[in-house]
Amino acid sequence: VDVVDITALQRWLRTFAASVAEQRDHLTALDAAIGDADHGANMHRGMTAVVDALATASSDDPAALLKQTGMTLVKSVGGASGPLYGTLFLRMAPATGGATTLDAETFAKALRAGLEGVVARGKAELGDKTMVDALAPALDALDAALGGGESLAAGLRAASAAADEGRDATIPLVARKGRASYLGERSAGHQDPGATSAALLVAAAADAVAE
Ligand code: ADP
Ligand code: MG
Ligand code: MG
Repeated sequence: VDVVDITALQRWLRTFAASVAEQRDHLTALDAAIGDADHGANMHRGMTAVVDALATASSDDPAALLKQTGMTLVKSVGGASGPLYGTLFLRMAPATGGATTLDAETFAKALRAGLEGVVARGKAELGDKTMVDALAPALDALDAALGGGESLAAGLRAASAAADEGRDATIPLVARKGRASYLGERSAGHQDPGATSAALLVAAAADAVAE
């Protein structure tokens, strides 16, 4: 499919929840090194609540589902990442323009609005060793692929590769936002947990839309 409808959105959320569950201990270990060892638990709690809420969601409106997801994450995740991931989904919702089926450009624009919300809320810049370091290059790669006439599936595959590279590039960085920034230079040499979960989010989108 080259559009994102309610089924694809649900597939995205379920796939992300499954990868978070699978990677929970890894995310926690990364956060133990430069934070407070709760990122895996935080994200797992949040995505479990999101998937639970899918079962009772009555609407087939993508904007409503994105809003519900954002609100669930804000309520259930806690920590720095809860409001930030929550904001990402909350900001995506109005950017869908109320469409039932999002074409590639609309989905890319919605993701971009989500990232802008994360940046507005967290004030992180590229290179601050946060989730933005995975998300920003991913969305740039998506825009470039779509601009070059590629399919949404191909664009999201490129986005996922760029997110993985951005995640890996956080390793040598000194954190300038969040708990890891308290460590100063000692945060260098460790992969950022939030960039790691954000790369899973983009990979899940690529899986959900795969041809
Ligand atoms: P907490 O640090 O409150 O325990 P988590 O462990 O769940 O929250 O999430 C930590 C992750 O949140 C970090 O690895 C980083 O990617 C992300 N993060 C923290 N602060 C910011 C910020 N201001 N902007 C963007 N991302 C941030
Ligand atoms: Mg933490
Ligand atoms: Mg915490």
